[in-house]
Amino acid sequence: MPSPTPPQLDLVDTHCHLAWEAFDADRAAVVQRAQAAGVGACVVVGVDEATSEAGLGIARAQPGWAVATAGIHPTEADVTDPARWPPLRELLGRGGFVAVGETGLDDYHHTTPLEAQAASLQRHVRAALDLGLPVILHCRDAFPRLLDELQRWRGTGLRGVLHCFTGGPAEAEQLLELGLHLGAGGAATYKPNGALRDALRTAPLDRLVLETDAPWLAPVPVRGRRNEPAFVSHVAACLADDRGLPRAEFAARTSSNARALFGLSER
Ligand SMILES: [Zn+2]
Repeated sequence: MPSPTPPQLDLVDTHCHLAWEAFDADRAAVVQRAQAAGVGACVVVGVDEATSEAGLGIARAQPGWAVATAGIHPTEADVTDPARWPPLRELLGRGGFVAVGETGLDDYHHTTPLEAQAASLQRHVRAALDLGLPVILHCRDAFPRLLDELQRWRGTGLRGVLHCFTGGPAEAEQLLELGLHLGAGGAATYKPNGALRDALRTAPLDRLVLETDAPWLAPVPVRGRRNEPAFVSHVAACLADDRGLPRAEFAARTSSNARALFGLSER
């Protein structure tokens, strides 16, 4: 007897870099595979002016499926150059983007002084509030400083997500208290990251969104391969099982959170 096709999950990939050159050769096939896997919407995240514009192009080519964000990634070598901000802010002001970022702090790669990253982060957050958009945050080895930087926006209505969240329950608690969402991706499926799964298992379900961060950080069981939006299904399966929820329910709930956060229409 042929095995029945597993029911398709309702998925949203809230963080992928589909404009990246890693997808230049087969972007259309990647989109098709994502749609076949149940990914009903995909947030294409910009890391500089060029990829932000390119993301908008992908969004126009895939209306109702892809949406784009604009930002300057903290590890971009010349994020220190304040002259880069006005063109990016102008691009954001033209509209069509669903979020500001990614921005944040990265004290791991040491490509840019942390002070300069913090100044860039503040510019992004200010723009997000001015435009009424959520912010997409990146954090690596700089969590206390990130919290400090965000404290000053407490009570302003700042919305957003710490993407690729890798902390434990204490860190999750602090982000949730600031009103932010937790973005769960491939890292949550890696065996050693038990504290991260503890945090995600106990966090309120209405504050979780799923992501791939494609082309990086492919989840188990495709770890080591080029990541792509279709693989968000593996993240959903892992975390649903860990939480003891039916996969379909977990996927639908987290996707509903994503649609609300980024202003996407219900499917
Ligand atoms: Zn990213």
